[in-house]
Amino acid sequence: MNISDLNGHFPILVAEDDPIARKILEKTLTKEGHEVVSVENGRKAFDLFKERFFPIILTDWMMPEMDGIELCRAVRNHQASGYVFVIILTSKDSKGDIVTGLNSGADDYVQKPFNPAELKARIKTCLRILELERSLKEANENIRILSITDPLTKSYNRGYITECLPKEINRAIRYKRSLSLVLCDIDHFKKVNDTYGHPSGDHVLIEFVNSIKQSIRQDLDWIARYGGEEFLIVLPETGPEGAYILAERLRNSISKRKFIFQEKAFNITCSFGISGFDSATSDENISSESLINAADHYLYQCKLEGRNRVKAGYVGKTQSAIFNDKRLLFNHQ
Ligand SMILES: [Mg+2]
Repeated sequence: MNISDLNGHFPILVAEDDPIARKILEKTLTKEGHEVVSVENGRKAFDLFKERFFPIILTDWMMPEMDGIELCRAVRNHQASGYVFVIILTSKDSKGDIVTGLNSGADDYVQKPFNPAELKARIKTCLRILELERSLKEANENIRILSITDPLTKSYNRGYITECLPKEINRAIRYKRSLSLVLCDIDHFKKVNDTYGHPSGDHVLIEFVNSIKQSIRQDLDWIARYGGEEFLIVLPETGPEGAYILAERLRNSISKRKFIFQEKAFNITCSFGISGFDSATSDENISSESLINAADHYLYQCKLEGRNRVKAGYVGKTQSAIFNDKRLLFNHQ
């Protein structure tokens, strides 16, 4: 579990070998509304921690098998999904022992026999720090989303293509799956801006992306703004034939749709260039560049032949044959 999934819920792992002290700890913390899981030594605590993330560990110092100091070091050396706040319970009170405890990676300590009010206050401090960590992660995540999103259309941006398309291609090649790109461009988009104004053009771009988002698989496919009125749809697990069917459906529905903005109604059309590969035709030379270039080539053909059409082809071992022959796999007229 990631700390951001905890949603302000911070379960506490207690390690204490004395059964009476363990019961009192459990009772005190449960009464405060915390979820508490308790075990009788450091070894058990660490084994449990490896299986389930606990943001708070409250551990006794002296315990059989693995003591509190060893548990602390083990937790710090373990790759956890979030920060773990460790409080050591100790009857040792010399300055040297406290320093040893803190140096082993503990964040705080509570002396035994513990005072419930003090323990609660220490846990409160710890919750403030964990809450701060959670909100920082949330803020970072929001910044990350902004950095990969096109502000107008809310599709992904060009940076996201550069970052994620190579990963999609590598995954498809590694698992011998298919992958297709659909490069779509709104025909004569400049005319929309010139005739109806830029706000109308913006409206068209937003609506265009929304309608595409509704037609693609939410969990697999994605769309990114490639240029002004040019968008790239990435379709994992889909060969050019499947991509063609999707693009043809999009082309048809967009061409029939009336866009209405500030009481002016108008139509638009789009052209779609598709490139793709599957396990049978793929080779290691497939790259973002070669796929995008091929899709762009087909898109250009659409434009030359009058727009409002779809063209698709394979890229890979058979690429040269297709390009040399100018024989396109699909040809919508
Ligand atoms: Mg003990």
